[in-house]
Amino acid sequence: MARSVPVFKTRNFGIIAHIDAGKTTTSERILLYTGKTHKIGEVHEGEATMDWMEQERERGITITAAATTAFWNAPSWVYGEADKEVKTRFNIIDTPGHVDFTVEVERSLRVLDGAVTVFDGVAGVESQSETVWRQAEKYNVPRICFINKLDRTGADFFFDVKSIKDRLTDNGVVMQLPIGAEDNLKGMVDLMTEEAIVYYDDTGKDIRHEAIPDDMKDLVAEYRAIMIEKISENDDELMDKFLNGTPMSIVELKQGLRRATCANKLHPIFCGSALKNKGVQPLLDAICEYLPSPIDVPPLEAHKPGDEEAKIPLEPRDDATLAALAFKIANDKFGSLTFFRVYSGSVKKGMELYNPRTGKTERAGRIVLMHSNSREDTDEVYAGEIAAFVGLKDVRTGDTLCEKSHQVLLESINFPAPVISLAIEPKTKKDQEKLGIGLGRLLAEDPSLRIESNEETGQTVLSGMGELHLDITVDRLRREYGVETNVGAPQVSYREAIRGSVESEGRYVKQSGGRGQYGHCWLRISPNEVGKGVEFINGIVGGVIPKEFIAPIQKGVEETAKNGVLAGYPLNDIKVEVYDGSYHDVDSSEIAFKLAATIALKEGVMKADPVLLEPIMKVEITTPDEYVGDVIGDVNSRRGQILGQNPRGKAIVVMALIPLEQLFGYISTLRGMSKGQATASMEFDHYEDVPRNIQEKIVAASKVR
Ligand code: GDP
Repeated sequence: MARSVPVFKTRNFGIIAHIDAGKTTTSERILLYTGKTHKIGEVHEGEATMDWMEQERERGITITAAATTAFWNAPSWVYGEADKEVKTRFNIIDTPGHVDFTVEVERSLRVLDGAVTVFDGVAGVESQSETVWRQAEKYNVPRICFINKLDRTGADFFFDVKSIKDRLTDNGVVMQLPIGAEDNLKGMVDLMTEEAIVYYDDTGKDIRHEAIPDDMKDLVAEYRAIMIEKISENDDELMDKFLNGTPMSIVELKQGLRRATCANKLHPIFCGSALKNKGVQPLLDAICEYLPSPIDVPPLEAHKPGDEEAKIPLEPRDDATLAALAFKIANDKFGSLTFFRVYSGSVKKGMELYNPRTGKTERAGRIVLMHSNSREDTDEVYAGEIAAFVGLKDVRTGDTLCEKSHQVLLESINFPAPVISLAIEPKTKKDQEKLGIGLGRLLAEDPSLRIESNEETGQTVLSGMGELHLDITVDRLRREYGVETNVGAPQVSYREAIRGSVESEGRYVKQSGGRGQYGHCWLRISPNEVGKGVEFINGIVGGVIPKEFIAPIQKGVEETAKNGVLAGYPLNDIKVEVYDGSYHDVDSSEIAFKLAATIALKEGVMKADPVLLEPIMKVEITTPDEYVGDVIGDVNSRRGQILGQNPRGKAIVVMALIPLEQLFGYISTLRGMSKGQATASMEFDHYEDVPRNIQEKIVAASKVR
């Protein structure tokens, strides 16, 4: 079976946004206007659009699939002479809406080649828009912008454009200007073609191309000039023409903008209202026109398993050997789905897939493409494409799948350490096993969750990225796995660190009768850069401690640090060098040196100004003006630090840093304080020293635990 859509007609993209900006609505509309066949004329054109009302009523649309495949007929200039009968294949990658799941956002950014960033036409750039924008920047993901909700009261396109400039980038290029605003939003002017696109109904069916309204002509000319200048500045081919005053055709400009957008130099800005079906079709065109195909982005690098230096570039060619990434495991009523992207080569049904993490092979059984409201079986998936395996057993999020004879490993995704945890147990003993299975599956899906069993209490402890993250996990256990649980109060994941440097001696010597014990070492202990964990250095020269005892010393240091010294929380970001010591020919043993290191570290840390660190969250509170005073007072009483406040529409946005420990149940307090009108979102920002008086209390409490 040959591939039905050439790779250059593929767009793997995601929609990223602040919660409530309209990501879901925009995705829904995209799915409503696109079809599921790749050939023009195979089904009645517009079939998808025809039954959209009915679909919406039934809510039958699977917008939550990790990747949904759909097809759209691109404007003809994009592919030149290529087969015009074949549409562009969209693989729309779901990105989670809440920042508690930033890891999920990062993970999805890995597999997409481009993104549509949706903004709220009233609120402009919000804190999570900033977060996701920066993440996209980190992965070098080309982006186009969609300013949504322009039908809302208080919507202001130019305010949004300015907030993109102020808070995100200088490289936005306005491509459309809205006609009318709020209730009166009629459509938009396309600055390229200098046409008005006017929507005569709210269902996106009666669309007419008209002349620009007279009162907008000057504004259009102004913004068109800026657009042309920006495109020319960022494209070598057009720069000369621009400087020489040579006229440029629309196709030339579009080609230049495509190059600049794919190279991440410019971000075209579009606008409309997803809810009122305005501006969606032009956005679909823009995705084809300006977002990259898998061959327009630099090839991903993999390496040989076990050798990070042995780099292997992955060419997106169908005839290369296979490299695929399992980027999402999902369980739905049909069983387990493993969503994957092929970076090079192709996957065939029945093929043996090698997983370097497990060292095992699994057979690719069924492969499906997820459409908006159906799934389609497929036999082969080619380079650059995205699909899902049904029923793979031992594959986790982030695993590479390759051929056993050509092993490669894709860079795995970095998951930050969790900041909050709670004890969890089944309500009834008989659910113990179901709980284990449920947690196991949820962990495979979401690697930012952790489970540990507390050795002292025998409890199962679940940790994650925020209170909501854990709430949702507990709720999913109930809904999807039928396990009712009792959970303890959420606990902050503190950390330990030191601020001073010391030299510390550890002796574990027992030499009274019979074979004795002899371990003796000196450690130099000092703070390390944040994020370095525990760095161990062997500074022993001349064999004052024999080589075979160095590893046990290191083990003693690492285990002690993991269990904490001050209050039982992991001790991080320290440098420990063993630089002196002694040994005994007969009595020295591995265990004696390990214990000596433990003693040296414990005593040393207590002398090295040990501190507790707590997670600090960045909180963005949106509140009506009259409650700002109360909100700020309350933030201060929570040991919070106000970063600033800005008007947004009729509301005020207060930005603050607040310790996580002070934020349990915060949202409901805030609601109570503001007659339900204020809202807040939060995300982990950094770890910071706990104030001394509070540290003393936590340390004291840890002693009686
Ligand atoms: P998400 O959280 O980003 O996925 O946002 P949703 O798509 O769920 O939208 C949040 C709310 O805004 C919902 O009540 C939507 O109906 C509404 N909404 C979305 N798009 C628009 C729009 O273009 N105009 C208006 N007025 N409301 C919208």
